[in-house]
Amino acid sequence: MSVIEYDVIVIGAGAAGLTAAAWLAQQGVSVALVTAGEPTACLSTGCIDVCSRDDQPLSGIAGLPDEHPFHLVPEAMLRQSIEDFRQMMADMDMPYEGTLEKNRRILSAIGAFKTTCLVPATMQASPQSDNERIHLITFTGLKDFYPGYLLSRFSNASFSAYDAGVSTTMGIAAHFEDSAFRETFLLWLERQNIREDKIAFPAVLGLESASFLLKQIESRLERPVFEIPTLPPSMPGRRLFNGMKDHLRRRGGVIYWNWPVVGVEKSDRQIEAVSTGAQGRPNSLNARAFILATGSFVGGGLWAKRDRIVEKVFDLPVFAPENRDDWFDQDYFSVSHGIGQAGIVVDDAFCPQGSPWNNVFVCGSILAHSEALKNGCGHGFAIATGRAAARSCLERLR
Ligand SMILES: Cc1cc2nc3c(=O)[nH]c(=O)nc-3n(C[C@H](O)[C@H](O)[C@H](O)COP(=O)(O)OP(=O)(O)OC[C@H]3O[C@@H](n4cnc5c(N)ncnc54)[C@H](O)[C@@H]3O)c2cc1C
Repeated sequence: MSVIEYDVIVIGAGAAGLTAAAWLAQQGVSVALVTAGEPTACLSTGCIDVCSRDDQPLSGIAGLPDEHPFHLVPEAMLRQSIEDFRQMMADMDMPYEGTLEKNRRILSAIGAFKTTCLVPATMQASPQSDNERIHLITFTGLKDFYPGYLLSRFSNASFSAYDAGVSTTMGIAAHFEDSAFRETFLLWLERQNIREDKIAFPAVLGLESASFLLKQIESRLERPVFEIPTLPPSMPGRRLFNGMKDHLRRRGGVIYWNWPVVGVEKSDRQIEAVSTGAQGRPNSLNARAFILATGSFVGGGLWAKRDRIVEKVFDLPVFAPENRDDWFDQDYFSVSHGIGQAGIVVDDAFCPQGSPWNNVFVCGSILAHSEALKNGCGHGFAIATGRAAARSCLERLR
């Protein structure tokens, strides 16, 4: 068995784990991130929901139930973590727009408006009302994108369809990274003689160069252009993930990809190491402290057995509604299923309550009562708690 030593091991590559690991690396801590695979960010719109239940994210947070873990993050730290996120994505040429003072709306793939806080710059020109005059560019055979949903919402809209030769979001986005494809496409676009005020695209404008590409189209067509996030797999969600991942690597953090944690080594009140079963042989990663950011059920951090819910890495105590009948709502589409509250309860240093370990910290959507979708506290909450848990971890190390 190979044994590798770090100061801190972060488990999970979602917005929470990536934020925690990058911040620690920036403080000069030797940090490794171990992950089973991709995070829920890859399924998302790429927009940063901080708290969408109110026009103002901060008032939304203030109105969350007392037990919500967002209350454990001081406002100054939330502001700093969001500002650092913006700076990081700008440095990665994937700038974000928006402010913590006010939520905004973007047009979604089903023709509804989604409320969020920060948006990729490629969605900045997204319409704010049904009256705007929009020309929609769609792609022949594109899966999971239905122009009819969008066109039926706007009375002043029209569309053109381009045959990119492939029919997946990822395939078209990859084509857009090729300058010859782009030039052919731009010549076709100019011939469409578009009269509307804005041009809308499904979010396929490149794997990573979307911002640059959008500016190129805007300058050739002389009008605002915006992307509409598509159903998963979502390019803006993947760009977000890739940007955060590359930033961590640039800061000197190490990523163990496809290394699910399958066991832990303990002594007294400390976790000594986590072991992974990757590459056909056991590996042991030792550290002085561990940050658990394995997400909720979708991320794989929580698992529902018949009568109880378990946390899969450290077997930490999990809060869940006591009676199994209270886990679910009769309405399948309700966002108030009791099981949404399940997770790890932490103290104000983000250490799990009722656990024997004193070198484990927890952040992100695995925290009890966070209910990301119901409260509109998605990546913003993950980023803020990732930062807060990393800060507590560093204080403990020192
Ligand atoms: C379909 C969908 C769409 C969403 N859209 C948005 C949106 O548009 N905007 C927004 O702000 N929020 C959105 N959210 C919510 C948001 O994705 C989450 O709240 C937030 O990003 C959670 O981040 P996280 O870091 O806590 O965990 P996750 O993103 O769940 O990441 C967990 C990580 O842990 C890893 N992991 C799990 N178990 C192990 C193990 N045993 N060993 C090693 N690694 C492990 C996983 O592989 C993964 O990398 C959406 C959520 C879903 C499900």
